[in-house]
Amino acid sequence: MLKLYEAENHLDAQLLLDELLSADIEAVMKGHFLSGAIGELPAAGLITVWLADEADESKGRTIVQEYESRKSHESPPQQCPGCSEEIEGNYVVCWNCGKELPEISVTF
Ligand SMILES: [Zn+2]
Repeated sequence: MLKLYEAENHLDAQLLLDELLSADIEAVMKGHFLSGAIGELPAAGLITVWLADEADESKGRTIVQEYESRKSHESPPQQCPGCSEEIEGNYVVCWNCGKELPEISVTF
């Protein structure tokens, strides 16, 4: 087992874990039960993602890097199909004309 990542929270760990698993890297999350026992306290560093096989380390780190860079970037502005307004952020509908926007990434 190799510790790959310290998550900010449970969702953070789960999202990374999903990416690892979908890349056929066997990984597990540890510590989520601890934060559950503490309650709603932020438990940074308590939730960690581990690789089952240390041979996957370089692949795993690449995925972490991609994951983190994606996380640190705001969603790119998209153009409303209704009024051509540039929409920034995670809007589901256009704030200008109310039309539904395509290609919104929904996280849970
Ligand atoms: Zn619009």
